[in-house]
Amino acid sequence: MVVLKTSRELALMKEACRISAGALKVAGEAVRPGISTWEIDKIAYDYIKSQGAEPNFLGLYGFPATACISINDEVIHGIPDKKRILKSGDIVSIDLGAKIAGYNGDNAATFACGEISDEAKRLMDVTRESLCEAIRAAVPGGKIGDIAYAVQSYCEKHGYGVVREYTGHGIGKALHEDPSVPNFGTAGRGVRLLPGMTLAIEPMINQGTARVKVLPDGWTVKTLDGKLSAHFEHTVAITKDGPVILTQP
Ligand code: MG
Repeated sequence: MVVLKTSRELALMKEACRISAGALKVAGEAVRPGISTWEIDKIAYDYIKSQGAEPNFLGLYGFPATACISINDEVIHGIPDKKRILKSGDIVSIDLGAKIAGYNGDNAATFACGEISDEAKRLMDVTRESLCEAIRAAVPGGKIGDIAYAVQSYCEKHGYGVVREYTGHGIGKALHEDPSVPNFGTAGRGVRLLPGMTLAIEPMINQGTARVKVLPDGWTVKTLDGKLSAHFEHTVAITKDGPVILTQP
């Protein structure tokens, strides 16, 4: 069931999203050669707690940390670890959210560690831009398929693989609500977009094949061909005046 939010609920979500964005910002600023993904996770945890909020990934479906931190060919759901040390040239996807006053925020971005290759930069730029294209399509009266098509057409035009197995989602009192927001599909199809909907839109884009596998840890998702992957996400409210990005620090 898709839940439409009242203006009071949107104000509460804005606060959860502000904190989520602030946590992503400090976590991203900590990305540098020599730091462990565990340390970055701790920075995000401390920030969220300092704002009086709760890390909403922690314990969800049994996930053991505040942030999913996924390096290079890891697509999503990487588990922070004291033994995972970043090195120059890595690209680091950080996905996290905060909950406060009963409402959730969710956002992600891929960060460069030191000097990265031009190919990695291009993948990150295209993935970030595909999120902008998707948000532009999130207008009342449109359909979920418009968002999906915006991501897919933009990324495939650049020769990249669009991950099918994982999608964006509605968000509100629960971190994951209906509807599902895929990154591939047909414009004009699917659930109608209405004012009061709040969606986490999150393209996961691979340099090579779209295909992925889950590691034996049961969490980490990697590209099947070992090529790079990037991930950008915003929580977006659909209003009568158009889309509003809620995850702004
Ligand atoms: Mg999400």
